[in-house]
Amino acid sequence: MENNRLYSPKYIKEILSKYGFKFSKSLGQNFLIDGNIVRKIAEKADITDEDCVLEIGPGIGTLTEELALRAKKVLAIELDKDLLPILDETLGKYNNVEIVHGDVLKVDLEKLIEEKLDNKPVKVVANLPYYVTTPIITKLMESDLNLDSIVVMVQKEVAERMEAKPGGKDYGSLSVFVNFYSLPEIVINVPKTVFMPQPKIDSAVIKLNIKKDLPDVDKDKFFQIVKAAFSKRRKTLLNALSTYGFNIDKKTIKETLEKLNIKPEIRAENLSVEDFIKISKSLPPLDI
Ligand code: SAM
Repeated sequence: MENNRLYSPKYIKEILSKYGFKFSKSLGQNFLIDGNIVRKIAEKADITDEDCVLEIGPGIGTLTEELALRAKKVLAIELDKDLLPILDETLGKYNNVEIVHGDVLKVDLEKLIEEKLDNKPVKVVANLPYYVTTPIITKLMESDLNLDSIVVMVQKEVAERMEAKPGGKDYGSLSVFVNFYSLPEIVINVPKTVFMPQPKIDSAVIKLNIKKDLPDVDKDKFFQIVKAAFSKRRKTLLNALSTYGFNIDKKTIKETLEKLNIKPEIRAENLSVEDFIKISKSLPPLDI
């Protein structure tokens, strides 16, 4: 079927050469060349014809096409202007796709979504440029967007850190951040061979199901405490919090932790999101 064209390495090579396109390593350009993975990503994102999808970095439009065939509308933000004429050619026939030229980290996502997508929870789907994975996830979570889920290809090691639970070697501030906003789940492990050019590292697709009701806590205070707790991984929680510069004396911190039944000598990597919430609700205001 014609729809399979964009998956084909031969077609990708042809179209890139037609437009004289050169891959940019610094823009994290590793394009998908495997129809099965493209389909699996769209399946794991549960895209139906009622959904509005935000894609980050459409490349030549391979994943975009699969999303367009399933969704009501796809809004895709691409930074590389050299890809725009290619996207015109590859996706021109889909009238439910809109490409916006810009840097996802700089555009006003709230405004874009309000203007271009229905006022319904949006599903984010992307094969992310890996050099900006964390800033993109942070922006998506912290903006006031009505998101349903985020299904993204990332470095395998980053996916494992996002999904990690307390006590494991991968658990850190990124895990707390992601688990605060969502329920993360690695949904596909992806070999290097499905990309052109082939990257050196393995990848995984992670699904972040966005929590409808966020914990009732002062977010700035919560994340300051998380940052402080993980700032010196080998320190006990009591030492990490009392030497971070919050200007709360050690005795107060110790008593607060004991009242919460949290051992002062515990290390940050053993604390759950709920523990951090309890701590941030109980400590006096931070002097930051
Ligand atoms: N979706 C395509 C695919 O799967 O074949 C391409 C994925 S490629 C890993 C990442 C894409 O993100 C590239 O097209 C790159 O130009 C684009 N990109 C890089 N940085 C970006 C940014 N800050 N904002 C928007 N797009 C960006």
